[in-house]
Amino acid sequence: MSRPVVAIVGRPNVGKSTLFNTLAGDRISIVQDTPGVTRDRIYADVTWLNYNFTIVDTGGIEPESNDIILKSMREQAEIAIETADVILFVTDVRQGLVDADGKVADMLRRSKKPIVLVVNKVDSFEKFMPDVYEFYNLGLGDPQPISAASQLGLGDMLDEVVKHFGENALKEEEDERPRIAIIGKPNVGKSSIINKLLGEDRVIVSNIAGTTRDAIDTTIKRNGTEYVFIDTAGLRRKNKIKEEIERYSIIRTVSAVERCNVAVLVIDATEGITDQDTKIAGIAHERGKGMIIAVNKWDAIEKNDKTMKKFTEDVREKLSYMPYAELLFISAETGQRLPKLFETIDMVIENHSLRVATGVLNEIMAEAVALNQPPSDKGKRLRLYYITQVSVKPPTFVIFVNDKELMHFSYTRYIENKIREAFGFKGTPLKFIIRERK
Ligand code: GDP
Ligand code: GDP
Repeated sequence: MSRPVVAIVGRPNVGKSTLFNTLAGDRISIVQDTPGVTRDRIYADVTWLNYNFTIVDTGGIEPESNDIILKSMREQAEIAIETADVILFVTDVRQGLVDADGKVADMLRRSKKPIVLVVNKVDSFEKFMPDVYEFYNLGLGDPQPISAASQLGLGDMLDEVVKHFGENALKEEEDERPRIAIIGKPNVGKSSIINKLLGEDRVIVSNIAGTTRDAIDTTIKRNGTEYVFIDTAGLRRKNKIKEEIERYSIIRTVSAVERCNVAVLVIDATEGITDQDTKIAGIAHERGKGMIIAVNKWDAIEKNDKTMKKFTEDVREKLSYMPYAELLFISAETGQRLPKLFETIDMVIENHSLRVATGVLNEIMAEAVALNQPPSDKGKRLRLYYITQVSVKPPTFVIFVNDKELMHFSYTRYIENKIREAFGFKGTPLKFIIRERK
């Protein structure tokens, strides 16, 4: 299921990062087996009531002059409109309503996206409420008074936010078409791949104006099946600050990955795998998505009989936390192995929602246990009672054991490998939940 994305926008110093940090709490977890994923606090997972969603902080740099502030806010608003399901527009009661707020409000209103207008720094409702009313002038409905610093009003604000979920998400949930996110750093060939796929005897299907995102998604029909490709390239602008480009590229990736079934990570063969590639790969890994690594521009490098092997080893080593990912060498320029890319997408999508019957699973586990005795500690031996698959996308298994402490990561990995040997599950991560049963 895809989690909604909530973007925080607003002028510098209104308290966006304070709000972000308050909402994220300690949930900005760095996934332990994902090296290279440094979190510069751009996105985080939040749970409110029964809702799980992802928040992104669109504001990064501190612009100095007023016209730069406005330009930078416009860009924040654009990226939020493009990537988010709900936009949290943050203003500041102490500075009051300023000109730039009005201009951004106009942009947001025109986008028809659900907007929640937040007035921050209302540290005392009694004292500041009279100043909150002026924000009605923005024409974005009821302003939600909060204090991000003293955690006031956040519950009511979140209630407003989650009310809007489902508007887009439900439509996408009903949409059975496979969704593929093409991710990767700039200039690796993401757009070229989509263009080439479009160009080859395939029909562009006119987009059904269901969701706002359809405008930027590309639908490609192949063998009677429609595929929705989510491009993360975005608009190319000159004079953009490097940090901003990177921040927006991460926000686009997070949003695209949330919405996809399978992510295709594009790597540039002429550069080899870089730190930025691993960082982007980590986003898809954490989200439990189907994963294909496409080494593009394969036409552009000099090759001998060892090149592919060498490249494979390098990628596998740098992305050792996702051994399940499928690896392909392609060229958007010549079209080499693009049909294979489609076949691989089909396979990964199938595996991502594959279900295995409980009986067979338990047979596999019993065999595995017989072959390689579970570990013991201080005279107590791990016992595995029962395994069952509880969900798909990604396939998720619960293993019941006598003592969770004894179930080491390496033994879980061993069981995972046995399951993979039996059923493949190529291209998809598997999730294991360990439960105790006395
Ligand atoms: P950003 O630039 O929008 O991300 O703003 P920051 O989160 O960095 O906050 C700017 C300043 O406002 C900091 O000094 C914060 O401590 C302060 N601030 C943030 N939230 C509140 C609040 O609820 N009440 C008060 N009084 N100050 C706040
Ligand atoms: P994006 O930023 O990831 O969308 O990258 P683009 O699709 O815009 O491609 C960046 C550059 O790489 C362009 O100049 C493309 O012509 C070039 N390019 C893309 N794919 C290939 C390829 O398979 N082979 C070669 N030689 N060049 C490619």
